[in-house]
Amino acid sequence: MADAISVIQPPTVEIAPRQKKPRGEVIVFGNWCKGCGLCVEFCPTGVLALDEADHPVVVKPENCTGCHWCDTHCPDMAIVVRRIE
Ligand code: SF4
Ligand code: SF4
Repeated sequence: MADAISVIQPPTVEIAPRQKKPRGEVIVFGNWCKGCGLCVEFCPTGVLALDEADHPVVVKPENCTGCHWCDTHCPDMAIVVRRIE
């Protein structure tokens, strides 16, 4: 009787990893930036890093959530985030 039982396996479905999409575009005004590094420190997702001149550069644009922590804390209004809808 056990021979009459067959097990049907469900089909295997491959799910591609979701592509991260940036939710904000970061613009740095280099002439106004004094290189304090606050924006880099406040970014919760590691979007920014300081270059050799201590100016912020975008190193992981896909991580930007558009939270505005970087531009909110810049004392010189040298960084702006434009929300991407
Ligand atoms: S908006 Fe938020 S996530 Fe994007 S760079 Fe600024 S602090 Fe980081
Ligand atoms: S917080 Fe403003 S002044 Fe300080 S490093 Fe960032 S952009 Fe430059």
